[in-house]
Amino acid sequence: MEHLSQRITSLVESATLKMSALTRELKSKGIDVIDMSIGEPDFPTPQHIKDAAIQAIHDGYTQYPPVAGYPELRKNIAAKLKRDNNLDFTADQIVVSTGAKQSLINVLLCLINPGEEVIIPAPYWVSYAAMTQLAEGKMVNIFAGVEQDFKITAAQLEAAITPKTRAFLFSSPCNPTGSVYTKEELKSLAQVFAKYPEIYIISDEIYEYINFVGTHESIAQFEEIRERVIVVNGFSKGFAMTGWRLGYIAAPLWLAKACNKLQGQFTSGTCSIAQKAAETAISADLKATYEMRDAFKRRRGLIVGLLKEIEGFKVSEPTGAFYVFPDVSAYFGKSYNGESIRNAEDFAMFILAEANVALVTGDAFGNGNCVRLSFATADEKIVKAVKQIKDALAKLN
Ligand code: PMP
Ligand code: GLU
Repeated sequence: MEHLSQRITSLVESATLKMSALTRELKSKGIDVIDMSIGEPDFPTPQHIKDAAIQAIHDGYTQYPPVAGYPELRKNIAAKLKRDNNLDFTADQIVVSTGAKQSLINVLLCLINPGEEVIIPAPYWVSYAAMTQLAEGKMVNIFAGVEQDFKITAAQLEAAITPKTRAFLFSSPCNPTGSVYTKEELKSLAQVFAKYPEIYIISDEIYEYINFVGTHESIAQFEEIRERVIVVNGFSKGFAMTGWRLGYIAAPLWLAKACNKLQGQFTSGTCSIAQKAAETAISADLKATYEMRDAFKRRRGLIVGLLKEIEGFKVSEPTGAFYVFPDVSAYFGKSYNGESIRNAEDFAMFILAEANVALVTGDAFGNGNCVRLSFATADEKIVKAVKQIKDALAKLN
């Protein structure tokens, strides 16, 4: 007899990974699907990083590494935080993990007691909701629609805080919207947090280097809340290293120690070879990173221009990351071959079937009027995909 815990049966599958698996399956059957579902750079890992990994194998880095990461890597990460963000963290405040995904759940599991509230602005990255659930916290959303560029205001934040609020979790640049909070906007949020010393701010900065408007601003820069900010970052996006599984936190020492303890019982330290490659990635020149950023910026211009030509799409221009999150609710209620499009999930399935383009429903990100398209794909595929979407939509009545 099968038996599964409530913990796992109540958990929903990751919508991004589900769509990406479905795309892989269709492709294996010979269907030419353009994959705009999963968010991952389409570039290979830069050569100097690959070389460092090969060297690590030759140098014998094949045994268990320290749970929180090699001292050299943690030192290099601390140096990076100073170099790029002017933040002062010591190496022992850094914990390296198997991806920003693990770093996030580590922090939530170490911070949240059952029933405590985690404020998460919506739209949010899909796994934030599931992770909060796994930590037995209660997700409290603040809704920010396309008309406010998907960014919350300080007044909205203050209205959502209750005596049960323990943490605030957000990403800037944001997945799925591509919105980037300005320094002033972050400061206005920080001023609210300054009044509530029991709230911890989890700042997911994994898209730091994919910023089209300027240099990255971290909410950790504000003195009045610095002691309570946990910076989460990783190597997947900025260094095109999704498969290497590398993320990290920079946190107050007591929390870093707790994450180290948790990880020690759970996964141990992440791959030794990947860690040695990361030491190089983070300390070397960022030329390759910025070249990729420039390609994403060009593609952003391309896709936004094309999507804006589609009748009924409301498009907010992303200023970072590699996602665009159009409001497609104008199509709800339309139908094709007797099947009606009731919501964003139906819309995504219709587009997959009729346009052979994989995208992700906005419901998974906390906004059921939108769908997410990743433009981390070649220019010609973007042009082809949008044309196919447009042609499919023309069939609706
Ligand atoms: N945070 C955000 C906002 C993301 O989009 C992703 C996507 N992978 C992650 C965290 C996790 O990244 P990884 O585990 O690959 O470092
Ligand atoms: N973060 C990426 C995305 O949102 C990768 C998939 C995942 O880990 O969910 O598509």
